Amino acid sequence: MSPKEITKVDITNEVFKEPIEVVEQLSSNLNLKYTKVIQTYVMEDRILDLTLEDQGSGYFKGKVVWIGNKKDDTEGSIFCVDTKDELKQITPTAENTENVTLDIKKGLIKVSTASKTKCSVCGKNIEIFDEVTGCPICEAKAHKEHLTDWVRMKHTCPVCKKSLNVSSTGLIFMD
Ligand SMILES: [Zn+2]
Ligand SMILES: [Zn+2]
Repeated sequence: MSPKEITKVDITNEVFKEPIEVVEQLSSNLNLKYTKVIQTYVMEDRILDLTLEDQGSGYFKGKVVWIGNKKDDTEGSIFCVDTKDELKQITPTAENTENVTLDIKKGLIKVSTASKTKCSVCGKNIEIFDEVTGCPICEAKAHKEHLTDWVRMKHTCPVCKKSLNVSSTGLIFMD
């Protein structure tokens, strides 16, 4: 192997944007077979590994089952990962992720996680297994369930106090 051969690709921006961009990046580097079901890319072979790392040490590992978009259609990708014990969904966002790299030789997606943001409703860290949403006005971040519940009850943002509402798909919008 020549030393110039690229074996690792940074796919952080693609992951933060849309599943289609992630899948295009993966497909241009790996022989990936998938079926698109609505907005979800279901892997036909479980060949793609995914690990989570915190400051260089791995704490979670599994095979990617599908890559989909967030239920409220906001930017970002969800990975469903099979750990053999269970199926876990992870949602890497700027709030919980340092970077995402694809190791082409290993067929491995490596997510370096870091809790950088606290939920504006409950005050706890926003982790990689949490779905995240935010206020469309002040962009305060929160656990998706916590903020949608809050807005359903109070019809305001807990931080900027402006009027908000929740659509039937769970999207928070200015009222
Ligand atoms: Zn919360
Ligand atoms: Zn707000």
